[in-house]
Formats: sequence, C-alpha cells, structure tokens
Amino acid sequence: MTSDLLTTLNEPQQQAVLHEGAALLLLAGAGSGKTRALTHRVAHLIHLRDVPPWRIMAVTFTNKAAAEMRARLEVLLGQDRLPWVATFHASCVRILRQEIEHLGYSRDFTIYDDQDQLRLLRELLKENKIPEKDLKPRALAAFIDHAKNRGLTPQACAHQQIEDPGLIELYRRYQQRLKQGNALDFGDLLLLTVQLFEEVGAVRTRWQERFAHLLIDEFQDTNRVQYRLMQLLTGPHTHLCVVGDDDQSIYRWRGAEVANILGFDRDYADTRIIRLEQNYRSTRTILDAATAVVEKNSDRRAKKLWTDNPAGEAIHLETSADDLDEARFVASEVSRLQRQGESLRDIAVFYRTNAQSRVLEEALRGQRIPYAMFGGVKFYSRQEVKDALCYLRVLVNPADGMAARRIINTPARGIGAVTIERIVELETEAGGFMAACRLALERNRLSGAAAQRVEGFVELLEDFRQRLGRLPLAQLMAQILQDCGYTPALQEEAQQALNADGRQEAKGRLDNLEQLLAGMEEHSSKGGSLQDYLEQVALMTDLDQHDPTIERVTLMTLHSAKGLEYPLVFITGMEEGLFPHSRSGSGSADLDEERRLCYVGMTRAMRKLYLSHARRRRVYGTWQFNAPSRFLADIPATLLAGYRAALAPTTAANAAPAPRSAAHNLAGLADLVAAEEMDQSAEMITRQPAARPTPAPTDHPADTGGLRLGARVRHLKFGPGVVRRLEGSGDQQKVTVYFNSVGTKKLLLKFAGLMPG
Ligand code: ATP
Ligand code: MG
Repeated sequence: MTSDLLTTLNEPQQQAVLHEGAALLLLAGAGSGKTRALTHRVAHLIHLRDVPPWRIMAVTFTNKAAAEMRARLEVLLGQDRLPWVATFHASCVRILRQEIEHLGYSRDFTIYDDQDQLRLLRELLKENKIPEKDLKPRALAAFIDHAKNRGLTPQACAHQQIEDPGLIELYRRYQQRLKQGNALDFGDLLLLTVQLFEEVGAVRTRWQERFAHLLIDEFQDTNRVQYRLMQLLTGPHTHLCVVGDDDQSIYRWRGAEVANILGFDRDYADTRIIRLEQNYRSTRTILDAATAVVEKNSDRRAKKLWTDNPAGEAIHLETSADDLDEARFVASEVSRLQRQGESLRDIAVFYRTNAQSRVLEEALRGQRIPYAMFGGVKFYSRQEVKDALCYLRVLVNPADGMAARRIINTPARGIGAVTIERIVELETEAGGFMAACRLALERNRLSGAAAQRVEGFVELLEDFRQRLGRLPLAQLMAQILQDCGYTPALQEEAQQALNADGRQEAKGRLDNLEQLLAGMEEHSSKGGSLQDYLEQVALMTDLDQHDPTIERVTLMTLHSAKGLEYPLVFITGMEEGLFPHSRSGSGSADLDEERRLCYVGMTRAMRKLYLSHARRRRVYGTWQFNAPSRFLADIPATLLAGYRAALAPTTAANAAPAPRSAAHNLAGLADLVAAEEMDQSAEMITRQPAARPTPAPTDHPADTGGLRLGARVRHLKFGPGVVRRLEGSGDQQKVTVYFNSVGTKKLLLKFAGLMPG
C-alpha cells in the first residue's frame, strides 16, 4: 500500500510530496488533489524519510477533515505511526494544557462556547450599567472576536487606539472575568497560544524544535492570529508546507485574510510554488460552469483547471414558483434518484442560510427520505445536554462561573436571583464561584432559607466530586442527573404534562440525555478521560457527528461544505438577495466572496449538479420576490438544462438553446431587485445555533402572497406596474396589474415572476 504513495499521484503532486528545503506553497483550484497531495506528503515523510510521526503537525480546517486525514494515513501507514493531525483550535488546546501555567491559568481550564460567552457579556454589561439597547451583547462579542482573530489583546487594542476606549475597557474586563473563571473562549485558544509563544521564549523554542514539519490545509481561510501562530511555530529548521486555493476563500467575514496565501511567498523567501491543474473530482460540465462563475471576480490570480473526466450531464436548472415548490422538487428528484439505484449517501443539498432548511426538511420527511442536517441546533448546545455537561464542568473546574450559574438552580432548588447576585459579588475575592458560595455561607451573607439551599447545593457537588474518578463517566453522569433531581423531573413531565406537546418534548429531552450517556460510554471505552471528553465536546461542531455509513441525504450550508465532495449536489435558493446574500453590495468585496462561495458549492459536485431558484419565498411570514441569482447568468447556456424556462416561462416549450445575450439580461434584471435583509447575517450562519425564523403562518384562502393593492411591481417583460386587483388563492391566485408599457394585464401569480417595483 505504501507503494501507492507516489504512483497514485500526478507529476506535480509527486513533486509536492518529494519537495525538500524551503517552504512549499501548493496553490490550486478545487478538486485538484491538494488535500490528497498533502496527506501523501505526510505519509512519505514518515515512511520513507524516517521522520518520527510526533515531529509532524498537520493542520486542517475542521475536525471532520482531521478525522478523514487520519483515517487515510492509517490506511497508508498503519495505526501506530500517526502524526499530530488537528485543527488550529484543537492544536492550541493541546499546547495550552501543557503550558498555560506560564500565563497564570491552571491546566484544567474550561472552554466557553458561544452561549457561555454571551451570558458572561450580558452580565458584564449589566454590571457596568450599559443597557442592551445601547450595546448588544452580540455586538460586543463580535468586536472581541474580531480583535482576537487579528491577534489583538485589550492592551494591544488600547495601544493602537482602535475602537472606542469604552469598548476596549469592556474587552479588558471580559478577559479578567474569563481568567477568574479559569476559562478560555474560542478566540482565546489561539490568542493565548500566540501570547505564550511571544512572551516565553524558552517555550517557543521547545515547540519549534519539536516540529520538523508543519503542514496546513485550506490555508486561504486562515486569519491573522493563525498566521502569526504558524510563524511562531516555524523555527529555523521547520519545514513549512501550506495548501490552498484563493478562489475558495469564504471566511473573510470571520477574519480570514486571503492575503495570507497571496502574500505567503513574500514572507518566506525562496518559497517553492507548485500548481495543480488537473481536476479529478467533477465532470467537465460542472467544472466549466463553476469556472465561469468564479472568473467574474476581478481580483484573482488566473488559474488553469482542466479535467480528463467526461462532460457528463448538463446542469439541471429548476425554476419554482415558491420555496415550498422548490423543496418538493428536491424531495421528488431525490426519491427518483433513489429509485434509479443511487445511494442517499451520495446526495447533498446545500443552501445559503440555515433558515432555508425548514421547508426542505419537511419535504424530505413528507417523502420519507432520511436526511442528516448540519448547522441547526448543535446537539451539545441543547438545553438538557448543556445542563448535564455543566455539572461535569463545575466538578472539573470549580471556578467555572458560567457553568455554576447555570446549574445552581437547575433543576429548581429555590435559589433565586438575589441569592445568586450575593454570591457573584464575592466571586473575585473568593477566586471562583463555588468558593464564593462557601464564603457567602461563612460570612452569613444569605438569608436562612437561602443559606440552607446553597449549602445543600455545595454539599451535593462535593458528594459528586467524591465519586469522580471512581465511577465510569457515563455512570457518574447518570447518577448526578438522578440524584440532583434532573431526570426524575423530566420523567414526571413526560408522563404528566398537561398537553401532548409538553410530554413529547420531555421525552425528547430524556432521549437526548440517553444519547449523551451512550456517547460518554463510547468515549470511556476508548480510554478517554473526563477532561478529554469535555474538551472534545467544546470543540465539536455538529459536522463531526456525521456518520458517512448511514444511508441518508446530507443537508448543510454552503459554508460547511468546504473541502467535501458528493456525486450528486443540489444548490437551492439561487436568488438575488439570498445568494448572493443581500448583505453584499454589488461590486463589493462581499460580492466577490459570495461568488467564491458559489464556486465552492458547485465544485463539491462530482457527477451531477442541480441549481434551483424560487420566484418567491416566505420570509418572516411575508412573501419576498427574488430574481434569479446573477451567478446563474454567468453559466454558459450550453451547460444548463432548463435554462429557457428560467428566462421566460411562456416560451419554455421552445427547445432552442438560449442565446448568450439573453443570459446577460438575466444578470441585468437581478440588479433591479431591492436587496432586502434576510433573516440571518453570515455570522449567525455558523455561530448561532437556533436562528430560525418563526414559522410562517399557514396559508390563508385570501392570502395575497404579501402583495397588496396599489403595490408597485416589476415584470420581466412588461416592466413597472401597479397592482389593481387580486383574486383566488394558492396556485390559482391571479393578479391584475396596470403596466405603464402595455396597460392592464391579468396574470397567474405563480408564473408572473413579479418583483417589487
Ligand atoms: P478542494 O479544493 O475542494 O479542497 P482538493 O484540491 O483538496 O479539493 P482532493 O479532495 O484532494 O482535492 O481531491 C479531489 C478528488 O480527486 C478526491 O476524490 C481525490 O481522491 C481525487 N484525486 C486527487 N488526486 C488524484 C489523482 N492523482 N488521481 C486520481 N484521483 C485523484
Ligand atoms: Mg482539499
């Protein structure tokens, strides 16, 4: 098998594997085998160059990618010769667990997730008497994350005088509070590692000497602090190899800097740049279409990408009347493919915002098609799961204030807000929340009844702590949940809640806890510790729980699809305002990023690609009319099937291919659409677990689809007009419009393709 190391690669890939000496930059388009080359390089170093595995660090973008690379290496090398393969975040945790005492934290630190972070910020704002209407906790979080992504501590922010001093002061206090709780947020993992290496030379040297090879995949999406980390880990004898595609940079909104890849050879003298030009993943049709879309970006390094693969089927373009129709199309097509013998595992459905998944899920459920969705509420963020985990967090790190606040009155123990506030006041002095509980009791700061309850809570936890290490993890967790009354309360609710929904919900929560315990058992069976477990959970994204062996369709946002490949791909919601998302102004850098996202999405497809758009879609219960995405117009008509239908429904029967100029009309039309803010900002797409719009009200017979009498509209052919009359409902709904150009017309709303005028 190790003989495959080179023979299964093309010439430039082999060069990348064999390269020695100065830094190596592998810069190439989608599906050209970059990740494969990087993996084989690692295997080659270990197998033929005798580099000890522990001297190699390979960095991937997601845990899933890390797991895949490890699995691949296991095949190439066997189980006992695996190097360090992890994301930046996971790598930093590993380093900090060994070294963080240099920075005044202790090694059993907790990792705060987004929820903990927001909770802490909310408290901080309250303490500082800043009303949420003046500064939203989420905005403050964004400022802090942004600073951390750029490697800026509060001191550095103050020094560089960026932002308002008031904001910087809040950042400083936030850091103080984290440290007091012996806790790090996600941004800290990177920031503190950089700080550690910058401040403690001996530690830096030790790590630099440890790693002879540092390899980074998806380099185009590194941010400044990650780049700095790479620089700090690269000693005089470290061999650096970075791999990426500037056309696939899609995390600029999260601080990624494409300059990192484009300017790499300026920072590292004599960098060897290797380009890969053959795409192995997609059909020629898919590759040509994706290239045509990304080529429209002005600021890009020209790249050649070709494939030996057959042209394959035309890209299917589907125009639907509304989002429900679109979802029905996806579901029935999936079911047709399944009947044809396709595996559901080979099918993925992508969308731009999480909110779009609801109707797709419903349609798939309607057709009894199993699916796995990524990007909804994360399992470990669910209320009951998080409650359970917070008990463990406090046991491991009694200073973890956010976890302790969460469980002190969950399940209800009659400990109220006033009591908690009194405890919190002593937190700094006592050096942590649990210590503050004890101090409050010692000093008689709590009323009789409250004191008793707090004492009970402290004793309960003390009792649990006694069992720590003596019981297997899952058993300990089950006992905690039982003894503190959590599961009994849920069980009671499951049987006695007044309505069926309540009972169902309680049952669902119990099921989730069962699932949590099963996961813990599995973890222990592999010999993992409680500390490892909490760490894994904190860094886990729901993408990691993906089990590729189960027969089901994959649903995910385009952002999550990075690096993956599927034989059959649907991209839904190809509409102006949605994709490109309305946050991106035309011609701006944001629009370029949306275009790259489209390229990423399209190039995930191996055999067949479906692109769909709906003429209208419900957003917050009102209809939004969207023109087809400008990206559709960039795809040469010859590569698309169903193209004319999208352009002009009345002539759909005419099978002649649409002239290229018509495609440009489509792009022009797109500009006419008023960009309305969708329900989610890009940030919320991956960071906020449950950002779904409230369910749309069910269709009303006289539903006017958001159109009102007198509304100004625009028609593809007739131009601007005013709505005069509305009649009928559902598919039969008709609208009468007075157009400036042709006078009054009565149209079937479903096919009218009206846009806000
Ligand atoms: P992306 O830009 O999407 O991350 P990539 O450049 O990392 O893509 P890979 O995922 O490494 O590309 O490879 C794409 C597909 O092509 C994979 O299925 C891979 O196994 C296959 N492949 C790569 N190189 C070769 C090769 N030399 N011969 C045959 N198949 C290859
Ligand atoms: Mg890759």
